[in-house]
Amino acid sequence: MYFSLPIEYRQATAEDLKSRITAARQKLGSRLTILAHHYQRLEVVEFADHIGDSYGLSKIAAAQKEVEFIVFCGVHFMAESADILTDASKMVYLPNPLAGCPMADMAEIADVMAAWEYLQQFGGAKRIMPISYMNTAAGLKAFTGRNGGLICTSSNAAAALKWSFEQREKVFFFPDQHLGYNTGIKYGITPKQMVIWDFSRDDGGLTESQLEKSRIILWKGHCHVHTNFLPEHVAAVRSKYPGAKIIVHPETPHNVVALADGVGSTSFLVNYCEKAPAGSIIAIGTEINLINRMAHAYPDKKIFELSGQTCPVCANMYRTTLNDLCYTLENLKDIKPITVPEPTRSDARLALEKMLEIT
Ligand code: SF4
Repeated sequence: MYFSLPIEYRQATAEDLKSRITAARQKLGSRLTILAHHYQRLEVVEFADHIGDSYGLSKIAAAQKEVEFIVFCGVHFMAESADILTDASKMVYLPNPLAGCPMADMAEIADVMAAWEYLQQFGGAKRIMPISYMNTAAGLKAFTGRNGGLICTSSNAAAALKWSFEQREKVFFFPDQHLGYNTGIKYGITPKQMVIWDFSRDDGGLTESQLEKSRIILWKGHCHVHTNFLPEHVAAVRSKYPGAKIIVHPETPHNVVALADGVGSTSFLVNYCEKAPAGSIIAIGTEINLINRMAHAYPDKKIFELSGQTCPVCANMYRTTLNDLCYTLENLKDIKPITVPEPTRSDARLALEKMLEIT
């Protein structure tokens, strides 16, 4: 997809953009709400009516009764989820249409369907519950809903696992192997009971015996931001700052999670920083924009990025700029909203509503 802002928007100064965004918001008044994910740029977050992680924002989107326009500063699957959870009178806009999620793209629906077909010999939907992370395209959410499963986020993955095991023997978890594995361990599933489905192989690269004995089948996806963190980063921080607390997001590999003082969703990381006493030293394993914002918000605490060597930026979250936001707000009538067609919408909604119900 090619997308380029008109030159007038590309050349505008930050001050000009800010005053135009403010004016456009005032003009739209209560017809508009702006949602921003925690990983957005600071200057974009400053214009948000609501800031949150994908779970929090999906609940807020679902609760919108009066607004007509939801401008979602995030990535594509988030805007799709907001469209699915709201009624047809609400238009959802993604300010930068190129903002996707590479991890969501690792679970192509054609590969998922082929895997599901293969797993019919192990009982299919009679024995296996699909759980899809929020970070998936609408087509995969719809597949999950059609097969009785549900969506989860990093906030409620453990509850989704509990609910699933009350219904069926096994779980097929898409697309983040690390969130699935970390949640499985937390739930009491042993490493031997978790297998990784390699979607480049017809049989997932697994023997029949491995699949039969497994409790959780993990799709071989990952987030390139959170897999930056390594055990040696933890060791280096502990050596330099003996009193430091290390907290990480559960998309981080388990060998790092096991060494951390805390692991949890983006909201957990935000709350941790907020509640920590002044003078605390906190190293965080997650996306850099969120960490910078926490460091900026709590100058009485030393908050920094765990690796110290890489820059864990989500380039897709970073795509959305003030220029995009200004263009979107000033041209709502000419921009194509994010729309999920039927029957994908209804099937995906089943899986999303189940998530909201159980949590
Ligand atoms: Fe996707 Fe990772 Fe970016 Fe989140 S941080 S949107 S999972 S690539």
